[in-house]
Amino acid sequence: MSAEEPAGVPAFQDADLMHVTDLLAGPERERYMRVREFLQSSVRDQSIGYWNREEFPLALVSELGRQGLGALQLDGSSILLKGLMYVELARADVSLSALAGIHNELIVGMISQLGSEEQKRRWLPGLRDFSALGAFALTEPDHGSDISRALGTTAARDGAHWILNGAKRWIGAGTIADFALVWARDTADGGIKGFLVETDRPGYQATKISNKIGLRIMQNADISLADVRIPAANLLPGATRFAAAQGLLRDSRAWVGWQAAGIQLAAFDLARSYSLARNQFGRKLAGFQLVQQQLADILGNASASLALMVELARIQESGKLEMAQAAMAKATTTRLARASVAMGRSLLGGNGISADYGMGKLFGDAEILYTYEGSFEVNSLLVGRAVTGISAFTESG
Ligand SMILES: Cc1cc2nc3c(=O)[nH]c(=O)nc-3n(C[C@H](O)[C@H](O)[C@H](O)COP(=O)(O)OP(=O)(O)OC[C@H]3O[C@@H](n4cnc5c(N)ncnc54)[C@H](O)[C@@H]3O)c2cc1C
Repeated sequence: MSAEEPAGVPAFQDADLMHVTDLLAGPERERYMRVREFLQSSVRDQSIGYWNREEFPLALVSELGRQGLGALQLDGSSILLKGLMYVELARADVSLSALAGIHNELIVGMISQLGSEEQKRRWLPGLRDFSALGAFALTEPDHGSDISRALGTTAARDGAHWILNGAKRWIGAGTIADFALVWARDTADGGIKGFLVETDRPGYQATKISNKIGLRIMQNADISLADVRIPAANLLPGATRFAAAQGLLRDSRAWVGWQAAGIQLAAFDLARSYSLARNQFGRKLAGFQLVQQQLADILGNASASLALMVELARIQESGKLEMAQAAMAKATTTRLARASVAMGRSLLGGNGISADYGMGKLFGDAEILYTYEGSFEVNSLLVGRAVTGISAFTESG
């Protein structure tokens, strides 16, 4: 019990009131507790300065590598452990959880499932401990939600090479990665294919996107590709059709759901401790009924999100996860997250406006969760299509 708490109130253990973490078995539970402790003690508070300065914390990322967080796709972790690691990463810092999620789900996942033996030998050892970084380059300046239909970047085969031309936008780690996994349209057959493009190739240029209102630690970039020549062997052999990546893109929606649960636990942690420390009208904020309502609502939203994700993990573990299920989880948890951080923000009053108190940082970061990996609206439409049989995306369906 903290010194702030009145006598007679049971000691508060953790925001996980539903004991979700008890679902982890022995060694996975120990590993989870170790990483959680590390993230809370060595990342959470330290990340605020990096966020304010829009600076990438290289030393912290190396430490994440030492904690095994770059190898979650390769080390036999259960889906539940992986998910709860993303929860704890987001609870400490949402940008670093984004880095780890894109890294594991989209970069390591694509290379290990769709790459050649040579590509795996070349990239996976460095990716395992974050000594190598990849960027996932799909979105373009003129195409976001409709990218799978309208992608404009081109790849033209030229003997033993491919030549890439086009532009990408919002690409995480685009300025610091060793390579980008670029999706481009083959000018010969019109298919969308995945290519590994080393970032030091002539014609690859990445420019940092500054002044974001969230995910300020993540270095997002505008990328231009001007006659970038890469060896034919840089095409991912399993990614010669965009449909081949659908399973991984579906799973990466699920990863955002875990992030959304984590950001809400962070909002609850901050709101609870602030309300116990701050006095107004001669008593703790935590003693006011309306404040307790907000705490209960944030925790209820967080617990509902976590429970939905645990259920999703169960389906995913059976290999039967459907896109509509992942889309529903992503849309629902990010909608709840947005509401939770707004309550947390108001609970801190004026100090909720300053990122230095942590809550303002969460408030901005929640906006990104709501929009990337398919916006809230687009994921809702995927659910709508599944339950009505009617596609609302275009007039023709
Ligand atoms: C911080 C950040 C990091 C990102 N990281 C990456 C990354 O690493 N790699 C990458 O490839 N991409 C990345 N993205 C891109 C992200 O996935 C896109 O921003 C997202 O898919 C939305 O596309 P858009 O921004 O072009 O919005 P648009 O598609 O232009 O949408 C604008 C608005 O219109 C709505 N809308 C669009 N179509 C419909 C429709 N049919 N019906 C109803 N509403 C609709 C959308 O929901 C949205 O509200 C990132 C984005 C951000 C902000």
